Amino acid sequence: MNEKNDPQPAFKAAGVSIVGLHKSYGSNEVLKGIDLDVKPGEVVCLIGPSGSGKSTLLRCVNLLEQPNKGTIHVGGFETTDPDVDLDKMRQKVGMVFQQFNLFPHLTVLQNCTVAQVKVLKRSKATASAAALEHLTKVGLGEFGARYPDELSGGQQQRVAIARALSMDPTLMLFDEPTSALDPETVGEVLAIMRNLAQDGMTMLVVTHEMGFAKEVADRVIFMDGGVVVEQGPAQDLIGNPQQPRTKDFLKRVL
Ligand code: ADP
Ligand code: MG
Repeated sequence: MNEKNDPQPAFKAAGVSIVGLHKSYGSNEVLKGIDLDVKPGEVVCLIGPSGSGKSTLLRCVNLLEQPNKGTIHVGGFETTDPDVDLDKMRQKVGMVFQQFNLFPHLTVLQNCTVAQVKVLKRSKATASAAALEHLTKVGLGEFGARYPDELSGGQQQRVAIARALSMDPTLMLFDEPTSALDPETVGEVLAIMRNLAQDGMTMLVVTHEMGFAKEVADRVIFMDGGVVVEQGPAQDLIGNPQQPRTKDFLKRVL
């Protein structure tokens, strides 16, 4: 094969490796020893009841929360190393939240350029070009001049995804990205995530969308009470769970 004709991958995917992760809030131990690997390019969905520690786990990966014990490697970084360059590490880890977290006083385009200019030191022109590329990919190329409150929830979440992608992450974390959306806009956000998975992005996704997990996830992990109870290929875990707690949970959400 002529290498020059190979399409350039859109990005370099990073893996995640979590070993023995513990996190407490005061006397409340929320994560009780989590071991979890995500291979480069793999899509892993994290499911489990409310309060089981899913958000805390995600937030530990990019050190929005400081773990008490354990190690986390993301790409070439050990995030739990006290000497880690936090800014550099966070540039590589995109995060999308349930509540979008867009800056309300900035336009869509500004939302997608501000961190590129501040953190990556890109020129405004370069940042705008990258933002426009990603806004176009999520179907919002014409919406750059709008403000967040002029958009539907689904559109705002697509902007949040474009904003994260504009930083050239090697890993994307999603924390219930469709839970705050009107039912009719859920599909458009899941479609964007499906494309991203097909492009080879490493994704760790907390979700209650079992259809999405079944179709897109390489692996599903069921958490309860701060531990991984069961994990496996999506079809197996959702279609044929083994543990009573997993069965009970799925009975309630399916
Ligand atoms: P999930 O995302 O699975 O619903 P969370 O990780 O949000 O679970 O929460 C797990 C537990 O940790 C809950 O009992 C919650 O009250 C507690 N918790 C989460 N964040 C904090 C915090 N910042 N301070 C104190 N307790 C917290
Ligand atoms: Mg949560």
